[in-house]
Amino acid sequence: MSGLEDLYREIILDHYRSPRNRGELPSPPAHRVEGFNPLCGDEIVVYVEVDDAAKGDAAVVSDIRIGGQGCSISQSSASMMSAAVKGHTVGEIRDLTRSFKSMMSIHEEGLEGGEVDDPGEADALELGDLEALRGVVKFPVRIKCATLSWNTLAQGLDEAAAATT
Ligand code: ZN
Repeated sequence: MSGLEDLYREIILDHYRSPRNRGELPSPPAHRVEGFNPLCGDEIVVYVEVDDAAKGDAAVVSDIRIGGQGCSISQSSASMMSAAVKGHTVGEIRDLTRSFKSMMSIHEEGLEGGEVDDPGEADALELGDLEALRGVVKFPVRIKCATLSWNTLAQGLDEAAAATT
């Protein structure tokens, strides 16, 4: 149990110290969206490039860059997100977002039931490194830190889709 928590902490710190896909993309063609978490002071800027956005869920996120600053949870979550979504379709990304947010809320509800730690769950495979953020639900005030980048990306994908109609 504590070994697993150590591993999770290591993954989070690794993404915090060496963030993936850090930087900017020219906008346009990329969509630039800012997210802010006033509870913690976290800022996330997502630059997302969607190929053939008119294809809807079949459109592909060909590139993504992350800017902004904030706590280790918000920044490492954004880094993991960028690595998880790059090259995937909008439909796959929406599914992944749902899985991630349900991991956060399911375990939020599970807090009262005592220990909730089941790395064998089906969605664990798809979430990969994101699984490391599971421990965040023990600190409900930090959940918004972890979901900030995902909500910001969702807004960017909505804007990309809206721009084609
Ligand atoms: Zn934060």
